[in-house]
Amino acid sequence: MSACTAEPIAFGKTKETTRIVIIGAGVSGIAAATRLLEQGFKNVQLFEAEDRIGGRINTIPFANSFIDLGAQWCHGEEGNVVYERVKDLDVLDRTGDFAGYFARSNKDILTSDQYKALMEFKDEFEVKSDFEGSVGDAFTDSFWKDVGQQLDKAVAKEALDCLKRLICSEDACDHMSELSPRNFVNFAVTGGDLSWRKKGYWKFLSLLLNANEDQPGDQGILKGHVHLNRRIAEVNWSGDGEVTLRCWNGQIVSADHVICTVSLGVLKEKHKQLFVPDLPAAKVRSIEGLKLGTVNKFLLEFEEQPMPENIRGVAFLWLEEDLKELRGSQFFWLESVCNFHRVDRQPLLLEGWIIGAHARYMETLSEEKVLEGLLWLFRKFLKFTIPHPKNFLRSQWHSNPNFSGSYSFYPTYADELRTGRTDLGSPLVHVSGRPRIQFAGEASSRNHFSTVHGATESGWREADRLNEFYKGRAEN
Ligand SMILES: Cc1cc2nc3c(=O)[nH]c(=O)nc-3n(C[C@H](O)[C@H](O)[C@H](O)COP(=O)(O)OP(=O)(O)OC[C@H]3O[C@@H](n4cnc5c(N)ncnc54)[C@H](O)[C@@H]3O)c2cc1C
Repeated sequence: MSACTAEPIAFGKTKETTRIVIIGAGVSGIAAATRLLEQGFKNVQLFEAEDRIGGRINTIPFANSFIDLGAQWCHGEEGNVVYERVKDLDVLDRTGDFAGYFARSNKDILTSDQYKALMEFKDEFEVKSDFEGSVGDAFTDSFWKDVGQQLDKAVAKEALDCLKRLICSEDACDHMSELSPRNFVNFAVTGGDLSWRKKGYWKFLSLLLNANEDQPGDQGILKGHVHLNRRIAEVNWSGDGEVTLRCWNGQIVSADHVICTVSLGVLKEKHKQLFVPDLPAAKVRSIEGLKLGTVNKFLLEFEEQPMPENIRGVAFLWLEEDLKELRGSQFFWLESVCNFHRVDRQPLLLEGWIIGAHARYMETLSEEKVLEGLLWLFRKFLKFTIPHPKNFLRSQWHSNPNFSGSYSFYPTYADELRTGRTDLGSPLVHVSGRPRIQFAGEASSRNHFSTVHGATESGWREADRLNEFYKGRAEN
């Protein structure tokens, strides 16, 4: 990409002497750092803004066990580096179907045949690469040609909205009308979701780090390389030589190579202040064109599982008149709650999901207010009682300035700008080919964006890029 003019002095560094700074200790930063150490690089430092490692993998103790506030499932098997790493270790369970039950706001429930037909339609829906328009357009069109015809018109409309919410929670968009077909065409996944039993996604990080699997946050082989509570405020890459980084606390660090792994949301908010001089136009276009959506979780622990034995989960269908009333009430944000379901191997828990602008609004409410809303929602939709939980948690990925969202997607705006993940992931290199600033992170993964395996691959990609550059350079 952007190339500076000429190498001022011969670049005499080797793997032993070169200094590498990684911004962010999420899974992509950890994957890059651990691979660089394996490859023989010695001076690898990670600067992390939070007081913990893991980033959007955040496994925490809850209900006498562990739960994930962020990444939770290994999505798919074939071509999935996370699955490849653990497939022989017997640490994953295949997950079942979550919704199980479509409830209407008048407490009616759809029949199991209707449920099956709707879920099959959703799961089998595909969009062609040459489709002109949003995924929302394509989905609505096929819905009415297919399963929509088999249902009463009002129920079909409610179900269409509900299915759209479920898809938005998978793709992190606010509305399907902003979702580009590239999210389907470029995204490669084979096989269903797998869960980490009671260990949470930390299990995978513990393997990368050779750390304690029961102690989320243990830095394992990266001990001595990680600096917590060190938000990088400026990356000065002017000139041809070393890059100078300034931490929020004034600490100055110099590096020969920087791997930036901050989320797309952080790049959007901060790239203008973070990089001096400004990033090249193609990079800025990709940062502006791609999007990081908001998906949040609710976790509830009960004395006893409140869902009847045969129900694994519930999704919500709003009757038009109820929706109108809801929109005028304090609980308007509940419109974007997608579903609630049981949690594998944790029989006392329920987990729920909320998307988009209402998820961002929910983050501004107190925990008590959020719970009050959810209990109201249960009373409105369900024939059985969901009592006050023993413990309650919700995630707040958007309002945390170290993330500013949950995971990335291609909006149709990125198509209009003709930009994408290759521009985002391209390094800023010296004319000699020496990488100066590299970019990793889930949003830079072309086929596995929005996932842990995509983030992991991106970290390895950038470590390998440096390794390639140093091939043949003599060790000191
Ligand atoms: C609710 C939710 C559910 C998800 N579910 C799944 C799932 O089931 N399966 C799956 O595969 N994926 C899932 N994901 C996505 C997955 O978590 C991410 O794709 C992946 O963890 C991203 O890793 P990363 O290294 O790219 O970014 P991050 O984890 O965001 O790491 C970047 C790090 O940079 C730090 N940072 C930011 N700014 C600075 C700065 N200025 N200086 C220093 N450090 C900084 C951040 O604190 C962070 O630790 C989910 C995500 C969320 C939020």
